[in-house]
Amino acid sequence: LQDGDGKLSLTTKIIFAMLAGLVLGVILNMAGLETINTHIVGGLFGMIGRMFVNALQMLVVPLVFFSLICGVAGIGDIRILGRVGGKSFGLYLLTTGTAIALAIIIALLVGPGNGFVMDGVDTSGVTAREAPSVWDTFANIVPRNPVAAFTNGEMLQIIFYTIILGVAALMLGERSTPFVQACEFMNELMMKVVQIVMAFAPIGVFCLITKTFTEQGIGLFIPVLSYVIVLVGALFLHLFVTLMVYLKLFSGLNPFIFMKKIRPAQIFAFSTASSNATIPVTLRCVNERMGVNNSVASFTVPFGATINMDGTAIMQGVATVFLANVYGIDLGVGGYVTVIAMAVLASIGTAGVPGVGLVMLTMVLTQVGLPIEGIALILGVDRLMDMIRTAVNITGDAVVTTIVAKTEGQMDMNTYADPTAGDLVG
Ligand code: ASP
Repeated sequence: LQDGDGKLSLTTKIIFAMLAGLVLGVILNMAGLETINTHIVGGLFGMIGRMFVNALQMLVVPLVFFSLICGVAGIGDIRILGRVGGKSFGLYLLTTGTAIALAIIIALLVGPGNGFVMDGVDTSGVTAREAPSVWDTFANIVPRNPVAAFTNGEMLQIIFYTIILGVAALMLGERSTPFVQACEFMNELMMKVVQIVMAFAPIGVFCLITKTFTEQGIGLFIPVLSYVIVLVGALFLHLFVTLMVYLKLFSGLNPFIFMKKIRPAQIFAFSTASSNATIPVTLRCVNERMGVNNSVASFTVPFGATINMDGTAIMQGVATVFLANVYGIDLGVGGYVTVIAMAVLASIGTAGVPGVGLVMLTMVLTQVGLPIEGIALILGVDRLMDMIRTAVNITGDAVVTTIVAKTEGQMDMNTYADPTAGDLVG
């Protein structure tokens, strides 16, 4: 718990901040003090929390760019790069596919939503989104204007462009040395900026968590309790069993050490509900705490934050079964196969930002012919579900990252085994 000077480590402070926020938020929600809840928590805490999330997001694009250039240059061989890309893509598909299949099976067995009474649910204001075609999703990976891609934070486009740039630098050989060295320096500089922002993490996390729990009462859960229980159960099962079995099976790494080392990133994902904003923290966890070489992590982490969403897929599986039960519609095997395919594709095509899972759900529901107004039922609890599923999402990214690194010989096992390696204070 403590570092050398007897002071609490940053990770411990962040965990305390989260717990304190949770308790305070629940108390404030129950006390229902209008003025404090609106002005202090909603206003002031909301502002501080947003500043902190903004600061994290501010780091993402430059950090991904510079660390990926260094990563590509560090790999030094285009074939290895292709292997890392292929492996991580395959594993991301595998984990997301398993996640949603598992979710549907559990939900079908438990049957949440049977006998649900629809009275008094306001279903206005829910609109469906068009599902992007597979072809569009893939075509859009190539940016027409790289500057626009960077400005808009289009992660897949940024990754694509940066890799091409890195490969070109490799092809130029010696002559790119000054460029690569400059990027290495910038990468180091960005890591320092991450450290500065992280120093404020306990305050940021405390404000975010207090605000969410003050606004989201426990009462919201009661009507959709069966949905929440099945969803959280499936998320935990995937987190603690499926992902850990994959980790052990494919890499032989100790899952208990892994779980301990990824915890800071999980807390950030939980607090921000955004895989994207968590990229800097996930990177530091796998890099400094687990010993994954930057040449792998710089690619697989941002790639995973964009295309790999196990928790989100699980939510879509459970929500689909729940709504099918509520409306008494039998989707049949074909319907569920469609849900699996849609959820995997949707998870590839959308960014890891708060609430995007719900938008994707409208696509899935439209595809299988369920009324999208049903989303209104689960809207109230979605923020909290979003927080939990985002923690699962980034854990999936980190599992695949460590598997790829381990099997490619790009992992320092001494760092992995060292319990004190890389506390986030650096
Ligand atoms: N918030 C999730 C993420 O960033 C996506 C979602 O399920 O809404 O990974």
